Amino acid sequence: MEVRPVDLRVYSEELRPLLPPKIIDVHVHVALAEHVGSISEARKRENWAYEVGIDQSWDGLWQNLRTLFPDKDVRVLAFGVPLREVDLEQNNQYVLDGMSSSKDKARALLVTTPQCTTSAIEEAFLRGYSGIKPYPDLAPPSNGEPGIYDFLPKEHLELLERFKGVLVLHLPKKERIADPTNIRDLTELSRNYPSVKIIVAHVGRSFCLPTAQRALPYLAGLPNLWYDISAVMNADVIEYAIHTVGLDRILYGSDLPITLIRGYREHVGETYINYTDGDYSWNTNRKPPEVEANYTYYLYEELRSLIEAAKRVGDERNVVRRIMCDNAAELLDWH
Ligand SMILES: [Zn+2]
Repeated sequence: MEVRPVDLRVYSEELRPLLPPKIIDVHVHVALAEHVGSISEARKRENWAYEVGIDQSWDGLWQNLRTLFPDKDVRVLAFGVPLREVDLEQNNQYVLDGMSSSKDKARALLVTTPQCTTSAIEEAFLRGYSGIKPYPDLAPPSNGEPGIYDFLPKEHLELLERFKGVLVLHLPKKERIADPTNIRDLTELSRNYPSVKIIVAHVGRSFCLPTAQRALPYLAGLPNLWYDISAVMNADVIEYAIHTVGLDRILYGSDLPITLIRGYREHVGETYINYTDGDYSWNTNRKPPEVEANYTYYLYEELRSLIEAAKRVGDERNVVRRIMCDNAAELLDWH
């Protein structure tokens, strides 16, 4: 990865003073390019992130983390790339192998499809995975948008319940976490599977405040739901989440390697606009070169938002430490 003077300045002046010495990142993707295969042009147009480069080897990850956080001890909860094009069997095995040789710096989740048998998932737990990472893109093709149970069958949840496993859940549907079906299903999951540790990815894809406002008040108080802030580059959302579901429910995630792209995000109502200097087909809305020259990684922008939110909440050092380390250490019993 490329390092520019702006990155060093942002890290040393803005981030480093407030980041804890130990960090747990609960949302990292690891895959070799050969696992991912080729994603068609039509599919790349479905989601801006597919074009950004989604493979990251274990060595690449550790190197990226040393570059991003040179003086910090970072541990990760890692999983493969959950897309249809990926050879999941190979990718899952690669994730497990890297976790096993990480000297307790990593834990792993199994990427599952709805076709996975419960015995395969049970075996995965016995081999050392901490839980599963299902994904809407792996739901069987249908006319409408999939619901949670379309890519996460109840048999999988029953097994997770038995193993008290971790579930990193990327919510489906255009309305994101604010979709009434998602709110109903999350409430039901929490009630029916009380031992499953449910981590709702990207605060339920609340990249913009109105999305969070239409959902989190209904989910506050559910005892086994947590929220990772990966790819949330919006201090308003993080501040609101802390106030609404509680500081102890919020976890740091990076969504590496996607968040290595440079730029920032503007939030307008319920939509966001990605600005970047990257050479992507969707990147047609550019800022002047002198503005782009100051772009740093999206991940640093996420951390800037976290720090801004923590300052508004008060006792910012403690807030950042809870989110970036203590909450996950407690949840995963990883001290
Ligand atoms: Zn992700």
